[in-house]
Amino acid sequence: MAGDPVVPAGVTPSMAQFLEIKAANPDSILWYRMGDFYELFFEDAVAASEALGIVLTKRGKHLGQDIPMCGVPIHRADEYLQRLIKRGFRVAVCEQMEDPAEARKRGAKSIVRRDVVRLVTPGTLTEDSLLDAKARNYLTAVFPAPVAAVTKLAAGKSQTKGVPQPTSIAIASLDISTGEFEVGEVSAADFPGELVRLQPSEVIASDATFALDDIKPWIGHAGGAMTPVPAPSFDSIAGERLLKAQLGVSDLAGFGAFSRLEMAAIGALLKYVELTQIGKRPFLRPPKKTGIGATLVIDAASRSSLELLRSSSGDKVGSLFGAIDRTITGAGARELAARLATPLCAIDVIQRRLDTVGFLVDAELLRDDLRSALRMTPDIARAVSRLALQRGSPRDLGSVRDGLAAAQSASGLLEKARLGNGSKTNGLRHVGLPDELASIAQRLDTSAMALAAKLKAAIVDDPPPFRRDGGFVLEGFRPDLDEARQLREDSRKVMAALEAKYVEQTGVKSLKIRYNNMLGYFIEVTANAAKPLTSPPHDAMFRHRQTMSNAMRFTTDELIDIEGRIATAGERSLALEQEVFNELAGEIGGQEQALGNLAAALAELDCAAGLAAVATEQNYTRPELATDTAFDVRGGRHPVVEQALDRAKSGAFIENDCQLGRLDTLEHTPEIQRPTGFDDTADRRIWLVTGPNMAGKSTFLRQNALIAVMAQMGSFVPARSARIGLVDRLFSRVGASDDIARGRSTFMVEMVETAGILNLATERSLVILDEVGRGTATFDGLSIAWAVVEYLHDVCKCRALFATHYHELTVLAGRLAEIANATIDVKEWQDEIVFLHKVKAGAADRSYGIQVAKLAGLPPAVITRASAVLRLLEKADQKVGGHTSALTDLPLFAATRPKSHVAAEVKASPLDDAIKGINPDELTPKAALEALYRLKDLSTRRP
Ligand code: ATP
Repeated sequence: MAGDPVVPAGVTPSMAQFLEIKAANPDSILWYRMGDFYELFFEDAVAASEALGIVLTKRGKHLGQDIPMCGVPIHRADEYLQRLIKRGFRVAVCEQMEDPAEARKRGAKSIVRRDVVRLVTPGTLTEDSLLDAKARNYLTAVFPAPVAAVTKLAAGKSQTKGVPQPTSIAIASLDISTGEFEVGEVSAADFPGELVRLQPSEVIASDATFALDDIKPWIGHAGGAMTPVPAPSFDSIAGERLLKAQLGVSDLAGFGAFSRLEMAAIGALLKYVELTQIGKRPFLRPPKKTGIGATLVIDAASRSSLELLRSSSGDKVGSLFGAIDRTITGAGARELAARLATPLCAIDVIQRRLDTVGFLVDAELLRDDLRSALRMTPDIARAVSRLALQRGSPRDLGSVRDGLAAAQSASGLLEKARLGNGSKTNGLRHVGLPDELASIAQRLDTSAMALAAKLKAAIVDDPPPFRRDGGFVLEGFRPDLDEARQLREDSRKVMAALEAKYVEQTGVKSLKIRYNNMLGYFIEVTANAAKPLTSPPHDAMFRHRQTMSNAMRFTTDELIDIEGRIATAGERSLALEQEVFNELAGEIGGQEQALGNLAAALAELDCAAGLAAVATEQNYTRPELATDTAFDVRGGRHPVVEQALDRAKSGAFIENDCQLGRLDTLEHTPEIQRPTGFDDTADRRIWLVTGPNMAGKSTFLRQNALIAVMAQMGSFVPARSARIGLVDRLFSRVGASDDIARGRSTFMVEMVETAGILNLATERSLVILDEVGRGTATFDGLSIAWAVVEYLHDVCKCRALFATHYHELTVLAGRLAEIANATIDVKEWQDEIVFLHKVKAGAADRSYGIQVAKLAGLPPAVITRASAVLRLLEKADQKVGGHTSALTDLPLFAATRPKSHVAAEVKASPLDDAIKGINPDELTPKAALEALYRLKDLSTRRP
C-alpha cells in the first residue's frame, strides 16, 4: 500500500505516491481516487481523454512540465469503464484506503493512503452494466505442449489420417461473474473450433504461446483480448494448490481427473484472477471437464458458416440462437447459448434433456406458470459473485432474496406436478417428473430458504444501488438501527421546532434553518430582515457566519448541538446498516455453492421451458437419437428462414425430406410417405444436390446441419420426424469468404477449409459442402469437386450433402454406390422461373442463372446478350461432344475450347451485323420502322 512515500527532490509527496503506484501498474490506465472523482494523469490522461471524448486539462507541474489530467466522476465510473474496456484498455482502480481525517492525524503534511484494489480487464468483469446479460464472459488460459509440435500441426494443414494424434492444448475458462468454470484438452486441429465455441473475452497465455503462428491468429479470430502472462504462471503444482484452496477441498478426485497440462492452465488462470482481484476470492463453481468425445465437434469455420450464435453480420437476429431463444432470464439465455455451442454426443444426457423439454411441451399450464415465476428471477449467480468479490450492493442482496423467492415458487410448482396434483389443470399426462426436471426441483429446494426469510425481513423492496448511502435495511429488522434512525428523525423534528422558536423570538418570518455541504446547518435570513439578529438582545445568541448578496447566515450554540446529534445518529445508523450488509453478505458467502446450484437449476429450467415454448410455437418435433449412422429427416424446415418468411409474410416454408443412409434399415413413422424417386434399398450416404440458383440448395443443406445441432443439444427440431444417428463432427462449408488479413484469398480459404474437412471427417461425421471449387477456373473447379466427392465417398465414408452447379458431377451417382442425386424443383412459366423449393430425386439439367439475373434487375441489354452468349457456348460445347459424353471418359477436360473460337462466333451474330448496319441519322421515319421490323424478325429467328 502506498502511504507516505519516500519523496525524491523536486517531487511533491502526492506525486511521488502516484508515481509509485503507476510504476507498479505500467500496463493499465490508472484511475486515481481523489474525493468524488477518479483522476487520470500523464499519458493515461491523454489516452483516456481521447478514447472517452472528455476534456484534457492540466494540474500543477512535474519536473518543470505541465501535468496533463482528466477526471471521471464516481457516479459515471461504470459507463466510462465500459468504454475504456471496449476500446481494449485495462484499468487499475486505485482507492483511498483511509479517511482524510485519519491521514491528518499523522501530521498536517501526511497524504491519504491509496492502493490499487482491482485491475479491470475484459475477462474479469462483474458489473451488470459492463456485461451482456445473455452472454458468458470467459477468461481463458491457453497452454500448449510441446510447442514445437503445435507449429507443425496447424488446423487443417498437415494432419492426415494415420498420423498420430496432434499435440494437446489445455484450455481453462472461468467466468468470474458467475463462477462458471470449464477445463479441457484439445488437439491443435480442434483448437480454433474450441476457441470459437468458448468465445473468450480475454485470453491469457505466455509470450511464447502467443508467438505461435497457429495459435495467435485464432485467438484474434475469436475476438478476445490477448494478455501475455509470465510462462512460470503455467505451473501444474501451483494450479492444484490454488484450485484446492478455492474450492475448499483437500482432494480434487470428485471433480474429475485433470491432466498436468490442464492443471497448469488452471494454475495460470487462478493466479491471474488473484492478481487482478487483488487478493479477493471469487466465487468458483467446480470445474467442468470438457473434451472431445463427449461433445459434437464443430470447427471454427463451420460454426460461423452455420450462424449458430451470431449471423454473418454479427447480430443475434438471423442466427439459430436468435430463432430459438425464448428464455426469460439472462442466465437461461446463457445456458441456451452454451448448449447450442456445445451439442452433445452422449445419448443418455441428450435423452434426459429431451424428456424435460417433452414434458414441458405437454404440460402447457405448468410451463406457463414456471415461466411467470422465472420472470421475477434476477441474476443470482452474478449477484453472488459480486458479493464474494466485495463489490456487491444492496441490490445484489435484493437479487438473492428475489431469486430465492422465485426458486421457492418454481419448486412448489414442480412439487405439485410431481405429485400429479395439477394433472388436470396443468395438462399433465402422467404423475412424476422426468429425471432432469426432478434434479432441477431438488436443487431449487435448498437449505438457503432460511436465508430467504432473513433477507426478506432485512431488505427493503427496491434497494438502492449503493451501500454507502444506507437506506436499504427494513424497519423492524434491528432494534438498535431503528433507535438510531428514530433519534435522527427526532432531531429533525427538533430542528423544525428550533426554526419556529427563532421565528417567534426574532419576529423574522422568513427565517429558515438550511443545510449545505460547506457550512452544515445554518440560519438564513434575507439581508433586509437581518437587523433583529445583529442587534441586541439577539446578537449575543446569533453568531454571524456568512454574508451573501441578498442573505445573511448565522449559527447558535443550540443549532451546533442539535446538528451534532443528527450527525451522530446518522453516522450510527449508517454504520449499523453496513453491519447488516456485511452480515447478510457473509451468510450468502457461506451458502455460495448451494446458491450457485440453485442459480444453475433456474437457468436450466428457463432454458428447457424456453425450448418447450419454441417447440410448441413453431411446431417442432422430438428427434429420435440413434447409435447407427442414419440421418432421416422428414418434412424438415430451416428454423431461421422459416421464421423470417413468416415475419415478412412471404409465404410458407416448403418442408423437405433428407435421408442419408440405407432407407430400408430405418424405422419410419408409417403414415409418412417416403420421398418419391429415391431407391429405398440403397445405402445413399451422400446426396449430390443440383438445382437452379435461388432454388433453395444452401437452405436445404444448412437446415439439415442445424437439425443435427438442435437434436444433439437436446432440443426439438423443425421437422415432422427426425431420426439422427449421432454425429461426432459436423462440417459446413457454405458460401465464400476471404481472409485477407491472414493472406488468404477466397479460393485459398475455401481449399484450406475443404482440406480440414477431408482430413478430419469420420464415418460418423456429417458434412455439408456447398459449391466447392467455384472460386477458380471452371475445369479446375470441377476437377477438384469431382475428386472431393470421390474422397468423401471412398475414404471419409461420412454422411454428406454436396450442392453444386457442376451438373457434370451427377454422373457420379451412377458410378459410386453410395451417392444419390437430388434436385430442387422449379417450373418455367412464360419465360419466367417459378421456385418450388421442393427437393426430389434426380439431377438438374441447368442452373437458370440468366433468369435469376433477370429477377435481380440486371439491365435488359445484359440479359439479352448473356442469353445469346449462352446459346453459342452450349452449341460449341455440343460440337465438342456434350458434357456427359466428355466426362464419362477420364481424363475429362483435355478439350478446352480456344477463346478466339467462341469470340469469333459471337461476333458473327446476324442481329449484331444488322444493328451495326443501321445509321439512324440517315433513316427516314418509314425506313426506321422497316428496320425495326427487320430486327424483330431477325431476333425471333436467332439460333
Ligand atoms: P444459389 O445457387 O444461387 O446459391 P440456392 O439454391 O443455394 O441458391 P438458397 O440461397 O438456399 O438457394 O435459397 C434462396 C432463397 O429461397 C432463400 O433465401 C429463401 O428465401 C428461399 N427458400 C429456400 N428454400 C426454401 C423453402 N424450402 N421454402 C421456402 N423458401 C425457400
